[in-house]
Amino acid sequence: MLPPETLYRVLDYAQPLFQRLEGLYGALPGVTCARCGECCYDAPPAFLIEYLYAYQHIKSHLRPRWPDILTRVTEYFFLEHAEADLRCPFLDGTNTCLIYPARPFACRAWGLAPPERLPIRRRPPAAMQELADYYRERYGLVIPAAVLRGPRPACPHARPAGPIKRPARIVDQAFTALSLLETELVPLTSTLNRETVLPLPLHLALTVLPQGALARRTRAMREYLEEGRKTTLERYVTRARKYAF
Ligand code: SF4
Ligand code: SF4
Repeated sequence: MLPPETLYRVLDYAQPLFQRLEGLYGALPGVTCARCGECCYDAPPAFLIEYLYAYQHIKSHLRPRWPDILTRVTEYFFLEHAEADLRCPFLDGTNTCLIYPARPFACRAWGLAPPERLPIRRRPPAAMQELADYYRERYGLVIPAAVLRGPRPACPHARPAGPIKRPARIVDQAFTALSLLETELVPLTSTLNRETVLPLPLHLALTVLPQGALARRTRAMREYLEEGRKTTLERYVTRARKYAF
């Protein structure tokens, strides 16, 4: 969403808001679970303020991991709708979240409320089918059935880490506070329409990739789906890996 030259201006502006973001994240009860990483197959949605916070974390703490993260983020950008087994790009090979201290609300609230009350990670099945129809009619591309699965059901292993009364209500209140915080960066109508909510890796891809990448998305999907190759994708990976935060 934000190219680097704009991002740094907005990042400066957002600095005083980060303490409030940390406060509302901190108000959410902790969650215990089996840490299998299964739910991290779906990349989380994030408000713009959350993206900026995560961006700052990656910039300040993850320098040695930049090339790996940017490789996976670029793969996500091109193959989000073509490959069913993509994991969240911030999950490393040992099921560790690389941005755990800066993970967005959707990850923190998982297990505290029924999935239908949380920011959705995947569009509902009907919306996924619409997307598949769009690709078929406009580009002649067939999206694999496995990609069209709907949102993940609640995980039976995830639960509040302690005797918390009405965790779903705490989640609702924190989400309202988060939406209000977003209005300090973007207009109220954009916030209400969730215009600045994108999967977190997509936010980052739209910063690090050149503008022309959007126009190459379907070409990369076609190469992958119909010919099993990643020529376009790999060209962009080479460029993305050089990005300096
Ligand atoms: S919430 Fe469930 S699916 Fe997600 S990591 Fe924990 S045990 Fe695995
Ligand atoms: S940001 Fe971290 S916790 Fe959230 S889905 Fe990705 S790897 Fe999992």
